[in-house]
Amino acid sequence: MINILVGIALLSILSACFKWLTIAGSLTAFILGVIIYLAFGWQGLIILGLFFITSTFLTKWKKDKKQDQDALNTEEKKGRSAGQVLANGGAALLAAIAHLTVSDPVWLIVFAATFATATADTWASEIGVLSQQRPFHIKEWKKVDPGLSGAVSSLGTVAAATGASLIGFGFYFLYETSFSILLCIAISGFLGNVADTLFGAWFEQKYVCSICKKETESHVHCGVKTIKVFGYSFFTNDLVNFSSTIIGGMIAGGLYTWIIT
Ligand SMILES: [Zn+2]
Repeated sequence: MINILVGIALLSILSACFKWLTIAGSLTAFILGVIIYLAFGWQGLIILGLFFITSTFLTKWKKDKKQDQDALNTEEKKGRSAGQVLANGGAALLAAIAHLTVSDPVWLIVFAATFATATADTWASEIGVLSQQRPFHIKEWKKVDPGLSGAVSSLGTVAAATGASLIGFGFYFLYETSFSILLCIAISGFLGNVADTLFGAWFEQKYVCSICKKETESHVHCGVKTIKVFGYSFFTNDLVNFSSTIIGGMIAGGLYTWIIT
């Protein structure tokens, strides 16, 4: 028990040192790790780790190319904030607290599906942005520049399915469960990512750069403040991510309760 706690603390400190997370982000990740461990055991931490390590790696991967396309989130240079940690892990935290309060196997499935969603979403955006073809915006019904929420590419879609499946397979081996549960988690993660795309297209705020006229989600572009052209100001990317992980978790809970058991 104490070894695990020290391990979580060391990893959190390391994440801050490498600027994967801000100080507040790494403190939030530590608390998230401890509660997940208490609720779902060391296997739960591996699920969290699968999400965290692959998304950190993918965010850094081909960074130069992403910067060229203005698709890199400026906040990610300082590391992920506490808000971003909760946007991706907050739904998992709720599932862990629910399991510690009213123990039920469904919470474990919900927990895994929230991370399957977060993984699918991160993989889709970080890999999809490298697509050679211009992505298709599902609301504007036309091709747009890479990196905008609501834009889909075949590369990003395959990446989402692969990311969700990784969590499904990880869960399958870690908890020695059935193949139908693997499928339940992978499908829920993928559908959670679809919800993320829909929310991103319809609600998320969008800005335009007054210098180069490009549409962006960034508050600053070409060194100047961007102008908001669309969206509800409270509907940030963090809220979109949080909502979609809740939806991914709910789909998994529903599939598990009504189909598998
Ligand atoms: Zn610009």
